[in-house]
Amino acid sequence: MLDVTRVDELRRIAHEGDRLVIGAAVTLHDAFAALIAERPQLASFAQRFAGLPVRNSGTLGGNIANGSPIGDSMPLLIALGATLVLASVNGQREVPLEQFYTGYRKNVLAPDEVVAFVKVPRPQAGEFLRAYKISKRYDDDISAVCLVVNLRRAGDSVASVRIGAGGVAATPVRALQAEAALQGQPWTADAAQRAADALRAEFQPISDMRASAAYRTEVLGNLMQRFWLESRGMQQVNLESFRLAEAATP
Ligand SMILES: Cc1cc2nc3c(=O)[nH]c(=O)nc-3n(C[C@H](O)[C@H](O)[C@H](O)COP(=O)(O)OP(=O)(O)OC[C@H]3O[C@@H](n4cnc5c(N)ncnc54)[C@H](O)[C@@H]3O)c2cc1C
Repeated sequence: MLDVTRVDELRRIAHEGDRLVIGAAVTLHDAFAALIAERPQLASFAQRFAGLPVRNSGTLGGNIANGSPIGDSMPLLIALGATLVLASVNGQREVPLEQFYTGYRKNVLAPDEVVAFVKVPRPQAGEFLRAYKISKRYDDDISAVCLVVNLRRAGDSVASVRIGAGGVAATPVRALQAEAALQGQPWTADAAQRAADALRAEFQPISDMRASAAYRTEVLGNLMQRFWLESRGMQQVNLESFRLAEAATP
């Protein structure tokens, strides 16, 4: 038995070329702090991950290895293009996060392997990134749906896009069909609508105590619409930007 939180090498955060390398035993709080330092727009998403005790004791590697389809770090890391370094006494191998899961709480880890590091590409010029968490309660609740869109434009066209989703399949997933609907296309309201339609068609979520399948499907497309509006500079389309003081002003 190995307690990864006692392995110093797995508790470090470093920069390696154009990637941020987060040890698997880094706490969720510290891992998100490192991500927020490079992408400040993630601050509100990070605050909605569980509560302080879980963020300060749970690890990023634990969240990933646990493999819950409604875990929050994986849709984000998939959208960021993260890879995992899996290690055993026989050596190391690197796998894209979206290829780590093979089924509900199943993954490609060999019996003698651990998740050792998470490697996250650093931001690129023109990147527009938003992470959305939909849950019944605003604070300290598990996601019903999580959607993270990372879109980079060249001029008016979509140069690259990665979309990670949670709560819509047996594992955290990459939305390849919605990405294909956008790749190389002009970034317009029509393109965003096509991506929303593709997202709704791509997954067959289940109904459970957190949300119905129909709600999850509807919300997926709505979040893509929200992403479009935010990319056009619209501010007040999420709870995070809504201030009570302003709401109280007659
Ligand atoms: C009140 C509460 C609220 C929560 N809210 C959220 C939330 O909002 N969003 C969310 O995503 N999650 C949430 N969670 C789940 C929580 O984040 C995860 O349980 C936590 O991230 C697991 O991390 P850990 O380090 O404690 O892993 P552990 O519980 O120690 O491990 C989980 C599993 O992964 C394995 N494992 C751990 N580390 C490694 C490794 N490096 N390599 C290989 N296998 C490994 C363990 O053997 C075990 O099977 C919540 C949990 C609680 C209790």
